[in-house]
Amino acid sequence: MTVRATTTRSEELFAHARTLVPGGVNSPVRAFQAVGGTPRFMASGRGPWLTDVDGARYVDLVCSWGPMILGHAHPAVVEAVREAAGHGLSFGAPTEREVLLAEEITARVAPVQQVRLVNSGTEATMSAIRLARAATGRAGVVKFAGHYHGHVDALLAQAGSGVATLGLPTSPGVTGAQAGDTIVLTYNDLDAVAAVFAERGAEIACVITEAAAGNMGAVAPGEGFNAGLRALCHAHGALLVMDEVMTGFRVSAAGWFGLDGVDGDLYAFGKVMSGGLPAAAFGGSAELMGLLAPAGPVYQAGTLSGNPLATAAGLATLRAADASVYAKLDAHADRLAGLLTTALAGCGVPSRVQRAGNMLSVFFTDDEVADFEAAKAAQTWRFAPFFHALLERGVYPPPSAFEAWFVSAALDDEAFGVIEEALPAAARAAAEAQAPGARA
Ligand SMILES: *Cc1c(COP(=O)(O)O)cnc(C)c1O
Repeated sequence: MTVRATTTRSEELFAHARTLVPGGVNSPVRAFQAVGGTPRFMASGRGPWLTDVDGARYVDLVCSWGPMILGHAHPAVVEAVREAAGHGLSFGAPTEREVLLAEEITARVAPVQQVRLVNSGTEATMSAIRLARAATGRAGVVKFAGHYHGHVDALLAQAGSGVATLGLPTSPGVTGAQAGDTIVLTYNDLDAVAAVFAERGAEIACVITEAAAGNMGAVAPGEGFNAGLRALCHAHGALLVMDEVMTGFRVSAAGWFGLDGVDGDLYAFGKVMSGGLPAAAFGGSAELMGLLAPAGPVYQAGTLSGNPLATAAGLATLRAADASVYAKLDAHADRLAGLLTTALAGCGVPSRVQRAGNMLSVFFTDDEVADFEAAKAAQTWRFAPFFHALLERGVYPPPSAFEAWFVSAALDDEAFGVIEEALPAAARAAAEAQAPGARA
């Protein structure tokens, strides 16, 4: 296998970008800070492949952090966007596809009777929290350490994803007033949730949880955890906000709800439902959603919300994502997990490939990872050499130990062949990695 080392054009672009954009990127994890090296600037994508500006090709196991379940430049999605673009880009007036997309979402996720379209997952969770507070007349929000709900001020405390990657407890710029109503608990610890409700139940507007955690790596809820959250919320008059921005329309046609059947009161969606354009949504019962302006008093709005191109991409993606696509995603996740497990086991490195539906992660530890402390306790210093060995051999995994890996339905035998060839060297690199501070 030839190892491509040329990253000249990416290096030039990154150097220039850093003079113009903070850290050279428009979303922190893209900067490769946790793994070192030069982020690859991408030129194009097709099916399971990404091609960078130096002409190197990679099997994409990030999929834009989830959205691209059909692979890149899927003909039906591209055609839908092309067609929509020809009819105008934005009107600031309602359009038919917004209704069709709402219909598609509500048909898939039974507890969601109405949705409001927004532009990012961050807006979706932010607006869902506002609605939960308005509906209950309470301020408190319970979240779990290692869960990421976008960069909403009140939800950045002990957040996953880039916040975890950069090792931030929270973010400067978030005031005590903004974070003061946030209660952070350990994921998968239902007793802790019960204790907080027993003590402060009357103050808690909602519990927000990733339906299955993907932003500290893939960590599924333990047996009965989501159902326990629902029971506690309902017993105390609080709402359960299911953040399905990552899992929604990915892990099944109905997202994580389709796997465990635990219904939340409010839902946040994004990623897959956007087809790769900026679109997201939040939803719930008609009664709760009826509190939103203009039907009700809770204000929420957006100049580009329900954008014609975004709704075209989202609708085309969801319509193409039929049972055969979900079967492929599951099969591809099984195949990838099998290859990872085999390669890593062969090297004697402590490792486990953890699953949350068809999302997965590699943790360098022998112990099950059920919460953020356990994710951080893994030997994350093995990740960078593992990552770079894969990248050099044409495989593009997430550039952080605290992120899920995403498969697309477009992965084929050729792509899996590249992964299989790259893995033994990557597993060796992980096994030979030196702990920080260790002497050779
Ligand atoms: C990605 C993500 C968000 C934020 O979505 P953006 O579109 O990046 O703002 C929120 N919640 C979860 C679970 C996510 O994975």
